[in-house]
Parts: sequence; C-alpha cells; structure tokens
Amino acid sequence: MKSDGHTTINAKAEEPLDFSVALDKILEYLPQEYSDKTEKQYIDALILATRTSYENGLYQFAYIQYHMLFMTAVYYALLQISFVHKKELEKGLYYLLKDRYSEFWKESNTKKGELYFGSFAIINESDVFMLLRVVGLENDFLGELKDLVKQRNNYAHANGQLLLTSDDLFLDAISNYNEKAEKVINFLKTDLIAFYKKSIGEKDFYDPEIRACSDADEQMEQEFIKKYSLSQTELNWLRKIQLSEFDDMNGAEEIKTLHCALIHYYIELTRDDYIPIADTYIQNKYHENAVGFIENEMGISAYECGKYGAEFPLYECPECGEEQLVFDQENGKYHCFACDEDFTTEDLARCDRCGCLMKRDDDWQLCGNCTEEIKRD
Ligand SMILES: [Zn+2]
Ligand SMILES: [Zn+2]
Repeated sequence: MKSDGHTTINAKAEEPLDFSVALDKILEYLPQEYSDKTEKQYIDALILATRTSYENGLYQFAYIQYHMLFMTAVYYALLQISFVHKKELEKGLYYLLKDRYSEFWKESNTKKGELYFGSFAIINESDVFMLLRVVGLENDFLGELKDLVKQRNNYAHANGQLLLTSDDLFLDAISNYNEKAEKVINFLKTDLIAFYKKSIGEKDFYDPEIRACSDADEQMEQEFIKKYSLSQTELNWLRKIQLSEFDDMNGAEEIKTLHCALIHYYIELTRDDYIPIADTYIQNKYHENAVGFIENEMGISAYECGKYGAEFPLYECPECGEEQLVFDQENGKYHCFACDEDFTTEDLARCDRCGCLMKRDDDWQLCGNCTEEIKRD
C-alpha cells in the first residue's frame, strides 16, 4: 500500500500499476455487506461499466465511472459519520443546506426515513466534502477533493474532444482516487474503533438471550458489519483490537466470542485459500454438529439429498466410530466433528463388502466388521 507522501510517479517506478489491482483497492473502501439488493446491484453495475470502458480503451469514460465509485466510497463514509457522530453531522447538514435541509430528509431522499449512501447525492459534489469537517478534514485536503470534481467536470462535457487517451494517464488518475479514498476513510479510524468497542459492550448487543441473532457470527455480520456498512479496510482496523481489551467489561466472555466472530469474518474474507473444513474456528463451532456444518457451510441439504438420491457427505468415523465425519469432495478433505481427526482421500478407502469408510490398507480391503463376520461364517 502506498503511503500518503508518495507521489504517483515514485509509486509507478516501484510497482507498475495494474487496473485490476487499483479497482480491487477501491473496493476495499466500500461495504462488505450491503443493506439491500439494489445497493449491491448499483455497485456491481458501476464496476462492470468501469471495467468495460477500460478494456475498450475508453479511458475518459472509465474515469468518469471511477469517479462515481470514489464518490460512493465518500458517501458511505458520510453515512458512517451519521452513525458515529449523529448530532454533529445533522448540524453540518443544516448549515450546508440551509432552506433545503428538510428536502434532504424527505421520503424520496431516504429509505423509510433512514439515511442511506445515496441520500448524500442530493448535495452538490464539491460541497458534500465539507461534511467531512465533522471528523477533522482540513482545508488543504478539502481543496484537493474539490479539484477531483473540477477535473471530472472537464472530462464530462460533451465537447467532442477525447482528452484522456492514454493508459498511463488513466492509471495515474485512478491511483490518485484510491489515495484520496484511503485518506477520507482514515478520518474515521479512531472514532470507528471507539464506536465498535462501545457497541459490542452494550447488553442488547452481546447478550445471546436478548440480542437480535443468537448465533455469534450472524449477530456480528447482520447487526454490525452490515448495519454500519463496514469496509474491508475498517474491518482490518477492528480485528486488530486485542481480546484482552474486553477483559474488564460486563459480559466479557460473550463480547470476546463476538469479537472472535469479527476476526474470523475478516480471515474468511481475505484468505484466497480459505477452506471451512480446515478452519479450527469453524471446526469448534460445529463440534458434534457435523450435519449443521454440511448444511450451513457446504450448502448441502439432507432433505434435497434424500429427495434426489444424492449422497449426503456424512459418515461414521473410522477413528472414533461416531457419525460425525464429513467429506469435502472439492478439497479432498475429511474432518471428524467428534474426535477432530483429519483425513485425506489417500488416508481412507471404502470397504469392498459393505462400502463403509475405513483407513486405507493396500493389503486388506475389508472393514473390521466385515472381517469379523467372515471369520464367524
Ligand atoms: Zn472421529
Ligand atoms: Zn465392511
């Protein structure tokens, strides 16, 4: 990641900028979970439009679309400020909009009276940055943000001229957007960490008896990550909070379980080689509940398997004898949710006689039961 002090030219000399890398970067400033389908569709459409324009050499149009992605990231940051600093943001809006203030809150600009990221689009783009003053935006950076809008306006006029025609210039421009987006999000860092610690410590958030979702992972995902539009960058700040910081709080054990859920969410999100069956967090979560693992994590339903005659990947464990052994065919891995033993496809074989799973023995292809029965007969 580039530090703020780098000029674009230096950064280019260090590592050649790639369009996909830049695009992935700006997505790290956008929410991981969208509160409704239309928001996700909007972002997906913007990404597709940017990519299509870029791949066809239409840099000037890709630039305008990238600007929209940037503004979307800014609007989400403002939405988060409305959660963290509600009163101050409302005051800021009041001074900025004056007699248009009530227009901002009317039904067509909100979702059932609640703000959403698009609520901020009603405000002139150059002016909307002023709201970042609530979290400490200074004049120099405000000027830089306004310049982005000015530049975009130059490119957006239908004056019959294509001004942005080189790949290099375009990549410089979008890396500049990424740097600015990171700087905007960073204004929230301290406040968001404090907000998280406060929220997670509230009884109706942590107490499984009264909170919205009894499952800790579900609670974290729905009631925090989704509710407050957390981005990957922000999750990365929060996951670094030490568990010991919650030691002295009421409900410390429950709070730590929830914090582990957030850490786990981040790991799952960022690790390309993530495999649930090999993850100890998941293994513990479904201890003695192999069926739950298969249904929730692998998305295989016992009912559907029965209906269509497919094999439900649950077996008797050759180690402990419990019916808690799960087979993940895609990754060639077995895990027993009773005794925690792991096997690969090389470790196990099917009994020639009854078809049950047994430890592989190249000299003897019958399971213990079948061997005994044959001896008896
Ligand atoms: Zn076992
Ligand atoms: Zn057998």
